[in-house]
Amino acid sequence: MNLVMAYPAIEEFALSSLGYMYLYQKAKEFDGINVERISTDNINCSQMNALSFSMSFDFDFMGVFEILEKLKIPFCVKERTKDMPLVFAGGPVITTNPRPYEDFFDFMLIGDGEELIENVINILKSNPDKKSALEKIKKLEGVYSKGNNAVKKTERLNNVIYSPLVSDKSYFKNTFIIEAARGCMNRCAFCTASYINLPFRSCDYNQIIEAIELGLTKTNKIALLGAQISAHPDFEKIMNYIKEKIESGTNIELGISSLRTDSVTRNMVQTLVLGGQKHSTIAIEAASEKLRRFINKNLKEEQILNAVKIARENGLKGLKIYSMIGIPNEEQEDIDEFIQLAEKLKSQNKGFNLEFSFSTFVPKPHTPLQWAKREDTKTLEKKQKYLEKELAKLGIKSKFSSAKWDYWQTVLSRSGDEIAPLLVYVYQNGGNISSYKKGVKELNINISKSIDGYNINEPLPWDAISIEPRKELLKNELNRLLHKKNFSKD
Ligand code: SF4
Repeated sequence: MNLVMAYPAIEEFALSSLGYMYLYQKAKEFDGINVERISTDNINCSQMNALSFSMSFDFDFMGVFEILEKLKIPFCVKERTKDMPLVFAGGPVITTNPRPYEDFFDFMLIGDGEELIENVINILKSNPDKKSALEKIKKLEGVYSKGNNAVKKTERLNNVIYSPLVSDKSYFKNTFIIEAARGCMNRCAFCTASYINLPFRSCDYNQIIEAIELGLTKTNKIALLGAQISAHPDFEKIMNYIKEKIESGTNIELGISSLRTDSVTRNMVQTLVLGGQKHSTIAIEAASEKLRRFINKNLKEEQILNAVKIARENGLKGLKIYSMIGIPNEEQEDIDEFIQLAEKLKSQNKGFNLEFSFSTFVPKPHTPLQWAKREDTKTLEKKQKYLEKELAKLGIKSKFSSAKWDYWQTVLSRSGDEIAPLLVYVYQNGGNISSYKKGVKELNINISKSIDGYNINEPLPWDAISIEPRKELLKNELNRLLHKKNFSKD
């Protein structure tokens, strides 16, 4: 029995994906199964009975097709012969909305992968016949296949997960990554990292410390991972532990992806600085207090000013401030409020390196904003130019995601199986923006719903997937948020 686990990008990224590498390590520990790993730039593998893909980003389908093509496996399930492997996928993209990909995979794993992969491997091992294995796998909880609904599988996170391998070829060079928490309890109304990973789970303090000690036997670079890592109940205690170790002579380079703006503390920043971090990121998500309240981010201007002050006073050299534009109900006055905030930040933090980074709002399934309209690209680009110009006047650097690519990300996120031919077309025609536009035209695919939004009472492509909180609760939450400011329901 041979299982090949593919990562749909280059090896450097495969090695940096904790979830993928962890599941590969776990699969390898099973008796009676040979497990190999491939990526787009390394497809050396034996004959296989099953081939899995881990999809973390909406555009990962390009890497999936590249690998299938190199392995001479047809893209669509119905074009494959009996002697070809079962092909399946999992990961956040699949959990959020597997519908665009259902023609390409025999089945898909919805939710946390730890137990799911174990159950799939047990069936594969005892059922050499592809058809009977598939029949049994389709009955498992957390497995979706075309026409069969699925309920998301949630793990209890009893054990801390960490990098099985430390490599200088990884994007995060020689870094030992520890998943200290999964999900986020804040439930910002646009955030899949929170909504598809509820409930928030954090790992036991002692296990995290043991993992840090284990990591230090392999490298001095330790990264703590979690959508909102600083929300860990023992975060301050973990920081103290690391701080004391560094102060008593242990060489530790500590990495934490972003800080929670409303709870940045001196101790936290000092530990990061002692651990070699010079810059960090805070996310404020929306331009104004009004919009932040609407998306449930509930962050006040004073809290932002205070977070930056603490970061500067305790040794960081700079801070990246991340926000979004194009949130429903955003008006010019919200954008102007942002400029005013930037002015205050600049004047109160002279010499401190501030950089603003903006993406455009991409409505995502299973969030209260899953029905929302996406703002048109021209308006978004106008807002980007305005912000760029105004921030440059203040001497502040700004970066923007591509509104055009975010548009296509919205299409990928909120469509059903009707876009499957488009995905193949895009891959075969170079994967650039014009290939998407041409594909939609030539194949006559209607993508308007994914952009204009869905009516609150109509069926959604991803209704096939049940995730807590379910649709009725998301509707209630949306109504609650709209009521806060008497926003229009349009
Ligand atoms: S945006 Fe950040 S704080 Fe808000 S729910 Fe997502 S992870 Fe949590």
